Amino acid sequence: MTRVVGYQLTTASCCGAVFKAPRFASISFFASEIWTDGYLKDSLMPNDHGLRRCQCGEFLLESGLVKLDRADAKDARIPERVSSAELPLAIALARTAEIKLAARLDYWHYLNHPYRAEYRAHRNDEEAATQAAWEAANPDQRTEAERLNRFVNRMPMYKPSNDRPITFPVFAPTTQQKENMAAIIELFGTTGRTHWSLLYFPEILRELGRFDEANEALSKLDPKEAPMFHLVSANLIQKRQTAPVRYQP
Ligand SMILES: [Zn+2]
Repeated sequence: MTRVVGYQLTTASCCGAVFKAPRFASISFFASEIWTDGYLKDSLMPNDHGLRRCQCGEFLLESGLVKLDRADAKDARIPERVSSAELPLAIALARTAEIKLAARLDYWHYLNHPYRAEYRAHRNDEEAATQAAWEAANPDQRTEAERLNRFVNRMPMYKPSNDRPITFPVFAPTTQQKENMAAIIELFGTTGRTHWSLLYFPEILRELGRFDEANEALSKLDPKEAPMFHLVSANLIQKRQTAPVRYQP
């Protein structure tokens, strides 16, 4: 469970607005979906890159707010998140490369959402077809008497097996997606290595179909840092797949 114990007050350099940031006593890492591009669905933790909008209209980073010593949080607000519709504006107006990078990373996740919807629908259909085929091949052959004694003679139940077919739709990024990803790669060059770049760099190169470079970038990531990502990413690069993939099959 995520539990908040008090707030840290901060101030923005643009207009001196005072904000508050929750202090977490405990954190839940639950998410209903985890994707190779780092997107978490239904996460209880902030699942973005710290881009916020000040009340004066300025786009800023939560990490760029200056901490205050006082603790009177009465008039302080939690800085507003930036909606997906505002991301192009944030990219255009960003004052620093770091702010622009955060906006472009949020935009990258957002632009992958239509593919995620396609992927879910495809996987649901495939799972339903696998289950239907199994049920047709394993009909309930119990006698009436066996059926009545249902604790001893259970109905045959479908269980997903590890060797069932698991496929996903072809990922064909739009020009807008490709341009955004290319811009992120450039921004990683300008801003240096952030904690995001180690995972995002191989993923973006792979989504762009630049497999050799993706492999090279992946080799710089210690598998112990992100074992699941490392395994799945290496496999996708080897198969020359560009799709962002959900870890839960
Ligand atoms: Zn401001």
